[in-house]
Amino acid sequence: MMPQKIICRSCKHMLYCGDELVNPEEVISKYNRVCPECSKPLTLNPERVEVKKIQNNESSK
Ligand SMILES: [Zn+2]
Repeated sequence: MMPQKIICRSCKHMLYCGDELVNPEEVISKYNRVCPECSKPLTLNPERVEVKKIQNNESSK
């Protein structure tokens, strides 16, 4: 299991947090690509949305 977090960079609102690895694209699509908290557009640009994969080692990639 690799817990994953997806966070709005603008307001730090947590869009997703869970044990399942999800596609960030799908998660932001569920929010209509807009942050429900600050109404900023959500894109997969790391400046907009922070995706964290919590891993024990970083050997992959
Ligand atoms: Zn936000």
